[in-house]
Amino acid sequence: MFRSAIVKLTAVCDIDCTYCYMFNQADQTFKRMPARMLLPTALRLLDRICDYHPQGEPEPFTIVLHGGEPMLWPDAGFAALLAQVALRREQGWNLDVAVQTNLVQPITPELLALFREHRVSLGVSLDGPREVNDAARVDRRGRGTYERVMANVKRMLADGDGALIGGFLSVANPSLPPAEFLAWVRSLPVPKVDVLWPIEFNWRNPPWTLGASHAYAAEPRYGAWYAELFRAWWALDDPGLTIRLFNNLLHVSLGGQGHIDALVNDSYNMFVVNTDGSYEYPDYLRVAGDGSASTPFHIDTDGIAVLAGDPLFARLLDLRAELPAKCEGCRHRRVCGGGFLPGRSDARDGIASRESVLCADQMHFFDAALGLIESSLQKRDTHVHSDPANAATGLQA
Ligand code: SF4
Repeated sequence: MFRSAIVKLTAVCDIDCTYCYMFNQADQTFKRMPARMLLPTALRLLDRICDYHPQGEPEPFTIVLHGGEPMLWPDAGFAALLAQVALRREQGWNLDVAVQTNLVQPITPELLALFREHRVSLGVSLDGPREVNDAARVDRRGRGTYERVMANVKRMLADGDGALIGGFLSVANPSLPPAEFLAWVRSLPVPKVDVLWPIEFNWRNPPWTLGASHAYAAEPRYGAWYAELFRAWWALDDPGLTIRLFNNLLHVSLGGQGHIDALVNDSYNMFVVNTDGSYEYPDYLRVAGDGSASTPFHIDTDGIAVLAGDPLFARLLDLRAELPAKCEGCRHRRVCGGGFLPGRSDARDGIASRESVLCADQMHFFDAALGLIESSLQKRDTHVHSDPANAATGLQA
């Protein structure tokens, strides 16, 4: 089942991040799209979602309002769309709504009130401390955006709107020492981040230089960075500091089912809708070439159920059946499942049959993180079973 839609409210942005997969990589679809989604298109999509997602379903369908920069969509459009979402919720549909924004422009008090009223969560893209963020997240005049984003965050906090911020979204950057990254996360007014694996690497563009794959596997740059960050985060032992990948890994390693798309990789259950109403494959596939995320489907003619019959969507939905041969016997098969999807993509059919090109990184990270979790649990068990107070009360780990 599809559980989420990424909705491109705009195909324009007010900044110009160097690595942006929408505007600055192989896919040029944005040039062929309307700059903004029309309100009737957004409402038609909501109808499609409610036709597909059963009324009363306990698990929500998540609508992620995205772009480009979604906050360049008209305020009146948000008001009309969210009013319809509210109506659907009253009628029994379980719908979550989130916005992923660069937050470079302040959000008007009226719109924030609307987001509060309709339980809309904001994800804010920010790549680390000012100098790191501003090396890539720049405006069209090449100026860094960090100060403007943080000023808007602080304004929201001062106005009592901090609870709207679900967290910050960063891209892993091994040139920044993990201790410094963690110190930055701790300094945030809302200490919640997710750190994305890089999406630009795949078997046609590996993270090593030509002929150096063995040397890279011995010292995988991203894996080492994530492992060190995990150790530092674990040592802090601060439940108030969330690094979503790590919290989810903990959850999955203890037998939990829910997970994010960088873990488990058994099903990729989302689709994208561009500004003209066309359905698309996940954004990750944009790096494979111009039009590589395009599909023949459109919300005017096709319901969401039709997508599941598409060969590539069917493979994405049942990714567990695509487990690469190398992963069959891997000790991290359950938590990794072939690796982060972009590392498996190629220009031919979207998903290569090989494991992720970041396999060595993921192996290194999971070895370190799961080893630490395991040894901590063993120490805890030893402590509980050898403590006379626990023996007296019969308390078990
Ligand atoms: S670590 Fe490598 S071999 Fe193991 S499941 Fe992940 S991609 Fe496959």
